Amino acid sequence: MYYIDPHVHMVSRVTDDYERMARMGCVAVSEPAFWAGFDRGSVDGFRDYFRQLTEFEPNRAKQYGLQHYCWLCINAKEAENVSLSREVIALIPEFLDRPNVLGLGEIGLNKNTKNECTVFEEHLQLAADRGELVLVHTPHLQDKYKGTRMILDMLRGHSDIKAEHVLIDHAEEHTVRHVFDAGFWCGLTLYPVTKCTPARAADIIEMYGAERILVNSAADWGPSNPDAVPNFVAEMRRRGHPEETIRQVVYDNPLEFFRQSKRFRFTPPGGAASPEG
Ligand SMILES: [Zn+2]
Repeated sequence: MYYIDPHVHMVSRVTDDYERMARMGCVAVSEPAFWAGFDRGSVDGFRDYFRQLTEFEPNRAKQYGLQHYCWLCINAKEAENVSLSREVIALIPEFLDRPNVLGLGEIGLNKNTKNECTVFEEHLQLAADRGELVLVHTPHLQDKYKGTRMILDMLRGHSDIKAEHVLIDHAEEHTVRHVFDAGFWCGLTLYPVTKCTPARAADIIEMYGAERILVNSAADWGPSNPDAVPNFVAEMRRRGHPEETIRQVVYDNPLEFFRQSKRFRFTPPGGAASPEG
């Protein structure tokens, strides 16, 4: 089955991963900007990173027949440095018109601090001003429930951002309902140690249905697995779910969400670009 991995940090992966993902049926990836494992020292570090996301990675992906899209921001961990964050937010518009950029992300909260909230709000304002899609990182483990509620409250304060333009990622059993109730898209991250497993993601879909829900590997430089979405497909098949339902989650839903970006130009496998982009 063809699939899209809507959240994967390919800058941290080797070329063999692109090759393997393509062989498993992956046709497109979307890569949010994230933490490099260390705090970058200046805005120039972000300029170089945004060039990597918009120039180097799309070309590397293309060699294996994959379409590469990305999201720009300064992540929540580095948002503690508010002045650097403001420099990065001021830099983003220089890159927003590049053809593989889908919007702002992954913005959000990490430890739910005041500085993180300030920087999240300023990203949201840029998204509102430019009519951009938003991909939101929710905190890990013990900070997740509170952080998700704070994020949803801040988004509710932005009537200039349409709910269908927002994807709330790393949702789990205790946060999914809040995301759906607020009208947002919901992302489930399949991680080997924290976050969801393929079985838990299948449980969630059995509870809430397959509308407005996406699954992703969020594979990065830590313990993670670029096979996660195909593993989810296998789990759903093992449980006897129809192919249309599985395809909706791993292919149709990411396309429907991404197509709202004016720059999204998807070429279906073996076909010409669809008229709506
Ligand atoms: Zn991520």
